[in-house]
Amino acid sequence: MANKDFQPGIEQARALDQQDVLGKYRSRFFPLTDNKVYMDGNSLGLASIDAEKALLKVMDVWKKEGILIWNVDNGHYFNYGKNLGNRVGKLINAGENEVMITANTTLNIHQAIATFWRPTKERYKILVDDLNFPTDRYAIDSQVLLKGMKVDEVVKVVNSNNGVFIDEDAIIAAMTEDVAVILLPSVLYRSSQLLDMERLTKEAHKRGIYIGFDLCHSIGAVAHNFEAIQPDFAIWCNYKYLSAGPGATAGIYVNKKHFDKQVGLSGWFGNKDETQFQLKHQFDQALDITAYQTGTPNMFSMAPLEGVLNIYEEAGMENVRAKSLNLTAYMMYLIDTRLKDYNYSYSNGTEDAKRGGHIALVHEEAYRICLALKKHNVIPDFREPNVIRLAPIALYNSYEEVYHLIETLELIGKNKEWNDFSNERAIVI
Ligand SMILES: *Cc1c(COP(=O)(O)O)cnc(C)c1O
Repeated sequence: MANKDFQPGIEQARALDQQDVLGKYRSRFFPLTDNKVYMDGNSLGLASIDAEKALLKVMDVWKKEGILIWNVDNGHYFNYGKNLGNRVGKLINAGENEVMITANTTLNIHQAIATFWRPTKERYKILVDDLNFPTDRYAIDSQVLLKGMKVDEVVKVVNSNNGVFIDEDAIIAAMTEDVAVILLPSVLYRSSQLLDMERLTKEAHKRGIYIGFDLCHSIGAVAHNFEAIQPDFAIWCNYKYLSAGPGATAGIYVNKKHFDKQVGLSGWFGNKDETQFQLKHQFDQALDITAYQTGTPNMFSMAPLEGVLNIYEEAGMENVRAKSLNLTAYMMYLIDTRLKDYNYSYSNGTEDAKRGGHIALVHEEAYRICLALKKHNVIPDFREPNVIRLAPIALYNSYEEVYHLIETLELIGKNKEWNDFSNERAIVI
């Protein structure tokens, strides 16, 4: 539960930092050049000492062992995707061997749809929302086209009625008999809305529909309980909150009740271990999450995850979620009390159960305010047309940094500092 008893001065920020049980993990992450205040860990988490160490270790093993790397530590690296998957799985309370670290998010969506969407004459639709991140739609649409079907006949879109939140009742109402598969975000990347995944999954299953979630904006921030939710599948990237490095290998969860399903996209690393090196031309599919791997694990993109998971395991996912909620509650309090006069507002939910790890600050000058923030050594994240995403990360951001951020936003508002910048968009914003 987030604290409700916030006070205006910087003294409280300092006191909260003093009492913070996760404060000690800040020193495990590298400070940025010029000690920038980083509020963009929901796009790319920061590098940690542990991540660097794990990466250098893989380099060292390769250096010393060559091809024998596959045998080192009882096949640890041969089974790297599954070994890391089991550790990430604990963060969402998934079962043993239900998570694989492999590919990227987009490819894992292709994999999930190719596996779970087997259209029949009666059940052929894929249900989505209109606020999810676009790559999810691109992947789904191309799967539909690959089957020679028409996107507008197959993909059923539940539209948000305000462009900010998804109405869960509207999604449930759209679960008609012709729907085969549903893909939804756990947390919306713009408004931070956290969906009631357990309720949606129950409703889908009542109607015989498969349901999966994109956890990109919740993995490492929200302590999901997959043993209770029991979705059919999930996919995510590991480079946002989880801080496993730029382009880190992604994750896929498949509920063990589906391990008898023929995997949609197969490759030799999805074969049973026992027969993989017989190199037969007939695929002998592994009967667990291994099946969802295609080729050789890209180890340098996985090693930093192995390192940063040490920090997560020491810190505890429940503590991470509790601090994250309190940091964002504190931020909302400061926005309410200090920024209202300068036309700032936020479009995320205020209830703990309905928000992820970031605040969606709204201002008509959002783009140029982001440029001004960067000039003040604060790194935010902009999303068209008017949202500044601010993610204080439980493992390395402090209450004092949140306070400093709000002070800076106040100053920018007071002096209309956006007038110093151009509105022309850069490529990566
Ligand atoms: C970040 C993000 C992705 C990223 O996909 P990649 O294939 O890993 O680049 C996909 N979906 C959502 C919802 C995201 O937030």
